[in-house]
Amino acid sequence: MELPELTVLSRQMAKEIAGKKIAKVEVANPKCLNMPLNRFQKSINGKIIKSVESKGKWLFIKLEGDHILLFNPGMGADVIYFRPGEKLPEKYQIKLVLNNDAGFTVRVWWFCYLHLVKANKLGEHKLTGKLGVNPIDKSFPLDHFKQLLRKKGGNIKTFMLDQKNIAGIGNVYIQDMLFEAKLHPQRKISSLTDKEIAALYKAMRTELNDSIRMGGLAYEKDFYGNKGRYGADQFKIAYKPGKSCPVCGTKIQKIKTGSTSTFICPKCQPLDK
Ligand SMILES: [Zn+2]
Repeated sequence: MELPELTVLSRQMAKEIAGKKIAKVEVANPKCLNMPLNRFQKSINGKIIKSVESKGKWLFIKLEGDHILLFNPGMGADVIYFRPGEKLPEKYQIKLVLNNDAGFTVRVWWFCYLHLVKANKLGEHKLTGKLGVNPIDKSFPLDHFKQLLRKKGGNIKTFMLDQKNIAGIGNVYIQDMLFEAKLHPQRKISSLTDKEIAALYKAMRTELNDSIRMGGLAYEKDFYGNKGRYGADQFKIAYKPGKSCPVCGTKIQKIKTGSTSTFICPKCQPLDK
């Protein structure tokens, strides 16, 4: 789950659970908490949910009393809403019930974080305190993106995936952004022209917004258990090794870039210019 999926999820959650009171919470994987389970339960039971927002790959669930519930789905999770009396998914680790008997379950694929922090200590929270900018924020102009890049060394893909620079982009959406901007993932930031930076900025915002409009990735579920519609037909070169580049017809390659893989068109995205 990357920025589009978390954005879709947080908007739907806000609609269904904001303003409701937490009646009960069950956590079968208490390792995801930042405190003992009984303390966690005591702290949030009876609290009203004030708002749900997302930043990067995190949900920020604001509770009355200036507490914030932070959730990160790790490698992926199904966060599914249920109405009163509705059948629950077969497997889940977390269940939060509201005072109207609606609520949601969370099925985590690998690991997750569910941390409760005081609003005034949010800046000290190690995992979210240093999250970078929201790349689709209306108040994040191209000039600001340029400034961020010009301050950093290293290669462009590493920069884009570092959550301290830009929050919410992972190894799925980065693929087509680099392709659209005709950038090899290992291009040095210092070698990028203003034109290339502008192309990347545009590709980043277009792709993320397109996916949000389509409900996120086709293999991730939203709050109502529906899959998104952003899939293979929308991807240009991502996850299509051996297929033809939609621009020039060259075979798409999968290459190793540090600890991640990248799909590139070797002709459209040359390393040396
Ligand atoms: Zn090409």
